Amino acid sequence: MEPRDVTGRPRRPLAVAALVAELRATTVDPAASQALRDAAAQRLARLAALTDDEGHPLVPAAHPYRWWGLNEPTRSEVPLRDRDRPVVLSGSALDQLANTCALQWFLGREVKADAPATAAQGFGNVVHVLADEVASGSTPADLDVLMERLDSVWNGLVFDAPWKSAQEKDQARAALERFLHWHVMDRAGRTPVAGEHGFDVTLEAGDYAVRIRGSMDRVEQDAEGRAYVVDFKTGKAAPTKDEVAAHPQLAVYQLAIREGAVDEVFDGRRPASGGAELVQLRQGAPKKEGGDALPKVQGQEPLAGEWVSDLLATAAGRVLDERFTPSTGQHCAHCAFRASCSAQPEGRHVVE
Ligand code: SF4
Repeated sequence: MEPRDVTGRPRRPLAVAALVAELRATTVDPAASQALRDAAAQRLARLAALTDDEGHPLVPAAHPYRWWGLNEPTRSEVPLRDRDRPVVLSGSALDQLANTCALQWFLGREVKADAPATAAQGFGNVVHVLADEVASGSTPADLDVLMERLDSVWNGLVFDAPWKSAQEKDQARAALERFLHWHVMDRAGRTPVAGEHGFDVTLEAGDYAVRIRGSMDRVEQDAEGRAYVVDFKTGKAAPTKDEVAAHPQLAVYQLAIREGAVDEVFDGRRPASGGAELVQLRQGAPKKEGGDALPKVQGQEPLAGEWVSDLLATAAGRVLDERFTPSTGQHCAHCAFRASCSAQPEGRHVVE
């Protein structure tokens, strides 16, 4: 056929997905004639029957078995978790379940549909490992040595482009420099007692028992002999002051201390919790707190009140009752499940 010059925007995108959408809409359009609706259904059937050389459908979306919204919702016969056993959660899972989006937690952690580790996680892992080596004394607190270690592992990380790798490496250097400055400065008389300290405690929260497993980046002892937990962050965004005051991960560390999570590194004694903090290695401190050479530090006071217990109970209740409804917010911007989320325009086809 001779190509024909068409000016202006086509009525719909000239793509298979748009064609299927239009045909589907026509089959149920009350304003369309019966003949047109039948013709649309026949075309859908033809598209659905097309296969490649190996028999795989070429247009699977044209087949009604992919029209999820036509199905009745189903309920699993097997409960997700055994009600008679403690609900196992991590500090970050708690945040997702109680504060951000339970559906995101379900799809990411339970269904394990999260995307594979990204370069951003690689960055975080490298910086965490080096910080731990310095804390444990296996690598000296010396910038040149740290940079050599960084050079030796950096090329193992996969980036989309060489310029991105170079840019991130500069950021990693800056993060390690900030870490070193922080590590050697006087932190209100606190001294490190453990790094990458694993723990496993079971906490009572209302009617539920919640088992929390995790690892504290660093445990320190303050001048009054209390335990203080430090969590290194390498992300680009930092929580607000109010969010840190109610930060579930820090709060869980503090609760875990109460339950004996750090007794072994305090010579068997049960220390009180002196608070916890986030150390944002990718971000410089405000000028009045030392400026860009130091990391931004965000502290949480020792726990008071019942709010953490309420948070644990809310999260455990959601898991046991399997209430994974989407709740939208800023966290949706980076959510990998938008196309399967009924609260988003691009995911609405799942239920409609
Ligand atoms: S897009 Fe938003 S509401 Fe939907 S699952 Fe993701 S975080 Fe939850």
